[in-house]
Amino acid sequence: MRTVLAGDLGGTKCRFALVSEDYGVHRVQHVPTVREREPFLRSLEQALATIVADLPPGCEPPLACGFGTAGVVPRDGRSIDRAPNLPLDGFPLADFCERQFGVPTTLLNDGRASAWGEFLRGHAAGLDPLLCLLFGTGIGIGLIVDGKPFAGGNNAAGEIGHTTFVPDGRLCPCGGKGHFEAYCGGRAITEQGEARLGPGPNGGRWTVGAIAKAAAGAGSTAAAARAILAEAEAAACALVANACTLLNPRAVVLGGGVLSGWPELEARIVTHVRAATSPMIHRDLRFVPTLGGSDAILWGASAATGKLFAAG
Ligand SMILES: [Zn+2]
Repeated sequence: MRTVLAGDLGGTKCRFALVSEDYGVHRVQHVPTVREREPFLRSLEQALATIVADLPPGCEPPLACGFGTAGVVPRDGRSIDRAPNLPLDGFPLADFCERQFGVPTTLLNDGRASAWGEFLRGHAAGLDPLLCLLFGTGIGIGLIVDGKPFAGGNNAAGEIGHTTFVPDGRLCPCGGKGHFEAYCGGRAITEQGEARLGPGPNGGRWTVGAIAKAAAGAGSTAAAARAILAEAEAAACALVANACTLLNPRAVVLGGGVLSGWPELEARIVTHVRAATSPMIHRDLRFVPTLGGSDAILWGASAATGKLFAAG
């Protein structure tokens, strides 16, 4: 079977594997995302070398490397820009991997890689156009049009989390003000927990799940938690309805850590979208669950190489 070396480069950890043409994910390696570049590159190199040193039966050596990554990938797919949690800002990672492993290497934004994986193999397989919205630490988005991620003129399309929800509102991690991500991104929600709820459970930090749990209780902390979630819900609902009206997708995949910790949000988003959009938008619209995990990113990154699943 043909194979590709695939990676999911995240702000706290990275996951690498050999992906085969039957969508198999083999020899998974985890690498913590450290802040210093050199140790990080050494760990990445070692993880990939470990994978290729022990190919599963029936798998040919990899034809390419494909990585889904946080941050913005310039149009040439060679490096990563604006990835504050990865020690690779501006680094020519594709050149590095080609030198180390002797195969062509492609980088793809992880929101797009997720959407492509969901489109190829997930519950939304074949539904085109497909919108994938991931409420994680930030808000990831991928739009599949004609079987491929839509990139925009400068490979920067889709950053709806950085459009305005509240004019001149809360500061967003990107430096802008009042963006959706500053209200319904996971980092923003937990920061509100820290600021408005006092110390987290057992003296620790707040998570979205812990805030949702606190909101179900009684008393002043519960009321404050409900207020935080009400703001986040209003933002998330408006964001998805706006995106659906703009793009008229056939299906929407919703996922990410915010929804894992606070699963009630998903049904509220669906109800809101059906109420707030025109029948042309919502009549045939399907909401489908995400596959979860990072296999979708690995499949999408593999597809981006053009060597597996689909033409790149
Ligand atoms: Zn922003």
